[in-house]
Amino acid sequence: MTKLRLFTPGPAMVPEEVLLTMARPVDHHRTAQFRAVFEDVTKHLQYLFGTKGACLTLTGSGTCAAEAAIVSCLPKGHKALVCDGGKFGERWGKICDAFGIANTKYKLDWGHGFKPEGVKKMLDADKSIDTVIVTHSETSTAAVSDVQGIAKVTRERDVLLIVDGITAVGAIPVKMDEWGVDVIITGSQKALMLPPGLGFVAVNDRAWKRIDGGTTPTYYNNLKAYRKSMAGNDTPFTSANVMILGLQVVLHRVKEEGLESIWKRVATMARATREAAVAMGMKVFAADPSDSVTALWVPEGVDEKTLRKSLRSKYGMQIAGGQDHLEGKIIRIGHMGYIDVFDALSVIGALELVLLEQRYKLEPGVGLAAAQRVIARG
Ligand SMILES: *Cc1c(COP(=O)(O)O)cnc(C)c1O
Repeated sequence: MTKLRLFTPGPAMVPEEVLLTMARPVDHHRTAQFRAVFEDVTKHLQYLFGTKGACLTLTGSGTCAAEAAIVSCLPKGHKALVCDGGKFGERWGKICDAFGIANTKYKLDWGHGFKPEGVKKMLDADKSIDTVIVTHSETSTAAVSDVQGIAKVTRERDVLLIVDGITAVGAIPVKMDEWGVDVIITGSQKALMLPPGLGFVAVNDRAWKRIDGGTTPTYYNNLKAYRKSMAGNDTPFTSANVMILGLQVVLHRVKEEGLESIWKRVATMARATREAAVAMGMKVFAADPSDSVTALWVPEGVDEKTLRKSLRSKYGMQIAGGQDHLEGKIIRIGHMGYIDVFDALSVIGALELVLLEQRYKLEPGVGLAAAQRVIARG
């Protein structure tokens, strides 16, 4: 027998009490009871994002939320700088292209995070750019960008900052109002410990001004419609009400643990994983590693497909591989969602076992010992 453990950077594991809540008989969504839940959820989302602004809950995955934000904030006449350092950065460029939105792609080698100096240079070089889109934690490369620093640059000018916070919000420090980020999006199946299906968009007043000044070529994903319904604690279309009941439980857990403690726990597990890997003779892929997910180079002589297959079939653990040119070359292990330090240790232990299976030279326990030392230090 094995126990299923998801270490994928989405979907991530869901707590039992959330599953139980979602297993209750399905109620109608236009009721006073549900509106009370939705009001509570919206309030807690503000805590999660660190904002007093509107937090909208959309039915659709994270990409749906990103499309809604990008299309709403970039009506005709505006131009985006798309920070593209991996699969997701690339996707936001594709959304712009699909809607005919003017944009410049600012590419970085995979594994590197975007820094304020680089963004500033790009903005100085093209004064027609009035929007920056950046992925906080680029899940495909496990690299983190300096969103706080980039926000300092954008808020000094008439430039909006849209942040893809999927795998950042609820895992690593994100402080929307304090940093001056205009729009942040996230999804349900990563740090929010829920199944896939919900997208979230947090919007500040500066962004609403832009949104209200233009028209959005979309019907379902219209943020103005969501804002209007939200005034009555409602959604414009049938909401994924069962997921929202689960979300309420998640957000109460987040409030109870406290964001600061969550960030600290996730950072400890990430550091433990990185130090374990180094002790095992492996290398961390990202030059600017994110704490919500870790990417490791697959050592020479080890077959990545066999390794991941073995982890799944023998030990019930699902991790992720690399995408595009990194396929077969890296593995990715998530630290977000319903994961505690013992889960983090378990995947390191299992990784040692599947490496040994491929005759990789390793003293059993070296990775675990390194990880335990990090956890012991706290
Ligand atoms: C998962 C992910 C997405 C895409 O979200 P979906 O829910 O799969 O649509 C976008 N950006 C980042 C950083 C992600 O990790």
